[in-house]
Amino acid sequence: MGKKVALITGAGQGIGEAIAKRLSHDGFAVSLVGRTKDKVDRVANEITQAGGEAYSIKADVSNRLDVFNAVKETTAHFGDFTVIVNNAGVAPTTPISTVTPEILNETLSINLGGVIWGIQAASKQLIDLKHGGKIINASSQAGQVGNPNLTVYGASKFAIRGVTQTTARELAKYDINVNAYCPGIVKTPMMDEIAQKVADNAGKSFEWGMKQFSKDIALGRLSKPEDVAACVSFLAGPDSDYMTGQSLLIDGGMVFR
Ligand code: NAP
Repeated sequence: MGKKVALITGAGQGIGEAIAKRLSHDGFAVSLVGRTKDKVDRVANEITQAGGEAYSIKADVSNRLDVFNAVKETTAHFGDFTVIVNNAGVAPTTPISTVTPEILNETLSINLGGVIWGIQAASKQLIDLKHGGKIINASSQAGQVGNPNLTVYGASKFAIRGVTQTTARELAKYDINVNAYCPGIVKTPMMDEIAQKVADNAGKSFEWGMKQFSKDIALGRLSKPEDVAACVSFLAGPDSDYMTGQSLLIDGGMVFR
């Protein structure tokens, strides 16, 4: 195997940005994929300036061809391919009475479709390269237990645990491990938006909205994106070689299983 190469989707901000920076620090050449080119360019520049190897690609993960092209382009650019982190996702707040076919289809096509295309494209590439690798998917604590107002999002994240288990079984013979990470409440633009919506609905402040999510965390603080990146670093590296099909909770103690 040549150099270690990791592709991270949704790498232009939040958890994906932290994962890209952490994997670069771990010695990976990183390919940053996102639907807004400026955002992935900024993160790629920061990684390059810090001495890492980074490449940015504009792609919409709900578009199968985009995802296949991103994997192909990454492999051509760096000369190898080892890890995909299917991190991109959207999180609409949807009390059950507000769910529409449009919200359902869009969310599932990004959160679930994007992960399925990522697994398909990455496994094809790894099999062609005749070496194993790691596939890592974003689930959530909301994919482990029902969270009020997140019917659609929760459904998409429960589905990720299923897809992770089925593909782990299918791809093991190619030496490909498939695992997922389940963050809790992470301070990112996505979480700020959710807390603001909950606060607006209740006529309360942003701080109150955030508190509704943080009050039940055993460790008593919100997660930083870097907490999640550390978990992904483990799943991307050799210390998790004997683990597949698992969805790791990294939530500060919210869900106990
Ligand atoms: P975020 O701040 O909203 O960042 C997500 C990134 O994904 C954005 O840069 C976004 O690009 C990109 N993206 C969205 N749809 C895309 C698409 N169709 N194609 C390509 N890129 C797309 O979210 P985050 O909080 O870092 O979350 C990252 C992952 O962790 C998500 O899967 C999320 O569900 C999961 N998660 C987050 C939390 C949390 O508390 N934050 C908790 C559990 C799980 P644009 O900015 O251009 O739209």
